[in-house]
Amino acid sequence: MAYFDWNATAPLLPASRDVWLEASTSSWANPSTAYRLGVQARLALDEARERIAGRMNCHPEQVVFTSGATEANNGFIREAAWRARPEEGIWLSGIEHPSVQEAARAHWGSGRITRIPVLPGGAIDLDWIGEKLKAGKPALVSVMAANNETGVLQPWPSVRDLCRATGVAFHCDAVQWVGKASPSDWSGCSAVTLSGHKLGAPKGVGCLILSNEWKGIRIQAGGSQEMEMRAGTENIPGAVAMAEAFRCREEASDREALRRSRDDFERALQREWPGQSVIHGAGADRLWNTSSVSLPEFRSERWIAQLDRLGFQVSSGSACSTGKAGPSPVLQAMGVEEGLIRRTIRISGGWETTPGEWEALLQALLEARNRLGESGSADGPGRVIQI
Ligand code: PMP
Repeated sequence: MAYFDWNATAPLLPASRDVWLEASTSSWANPSTAYRLGVQARLALDEARERIAGRMNCHPEQVVFTSGATEANNGFIREAAWRARPEEGIWLSGIEHPSVQEAARAHWGSGRITRIPVLPGGAIDLDWIGEKLKAGKPALVSVMAANNETGVLQPWPSVRDLCRATGVAFHCDAVQWVGKASPSDWSGCSAVTLSGHKLGAPKGVGCLILSNEWKGIRIQAGGSQEMEMRAGTENIPGAVAMAEAFRCREEASDREALRRSRDDFERALQREWPGQSVIHGAGADRLWNTSSVSLPEFRSERWIAQLDRLGFQVSSGSACSTGKAGPSPVLQAMGVEEGLIRRTIRISGGWETTPGEWEALLQALLEARNRLGESGSADGPGRVIQI
């Protein structure tokens, strides 16, 4: 039994839950009020902001709390569209999260979106960006830091530098990077998006880190909370819990040991099924926890259901209401053949996943194949939500 879908969400981290409960008890007042209880709540929020700013190496006033990464991505991409001239566009690739893709479609329109090509290894084509910038500039480039399906690290620092040198705004969805990859220098990004629940904080909190030029944006209209950038009564326990989860993840994990368990698993899988299991992005720099793997014979939803029966949760990178998923746009953008995409599952371990759990997952895959071989049923398409 083990959970292998940490890129979808992480279980609640005990230290994060403790500070969440404490803040829910002691800092429940509305922080915009003038009495002492309100001031106490305001101080807790300020401290959470300072702690996240400390980790991101920015000023606390650059941190704007939101309800999560989806809201942060939407808010920034919409604001950038408002600020852009009508003839200017946005550049992004097909591997971005839907909260970026759909926000771009909604606020810029398909006609203003230029697709950054994706290399077969899973990273966006940096050279293409360099060349293309010589010919003309968009108003905004959005490139994620680490991909949620393959774990492939994107060359965002180089894209950021190219954008900075040419005066183009740069947005980075760093949801899967922070806490997993090394702490980084985010300065020079126009905006960086983070999500609390991927780190083990409760759902419903995230933030946008903004450069000084972008301070004053309007993510949500209403009251003057979040330095007038995001109206709505603040989720103080969520913010405090996110700051704590961020600290735990960056300070506590031995990433190399975690990577070894994932790598041992992949090697063992390929020994068991030589030529029949394909690991996407295997040659690239990847997060230590993720394995996007095409399995033999059966469609991913059947593997997922069978593994679930055996006590292992994995996903296809796309969750859906009926347990059946459509082809992954990320793998399509990488040029993976449709037949392989249909047989791909996303395995993502976490900071607490043990080597024994990776070994048990391998055994479960072998058992799942036996069971699938004995049964047989057709699967229809389901409604797809990417996660
Ligand atoms: N961006 C990426 C890369 C993600 O993986 C996710 C979550 N799957 C999101 C954005 C959305 O995050 P949230 O659930 O906080 O809205």
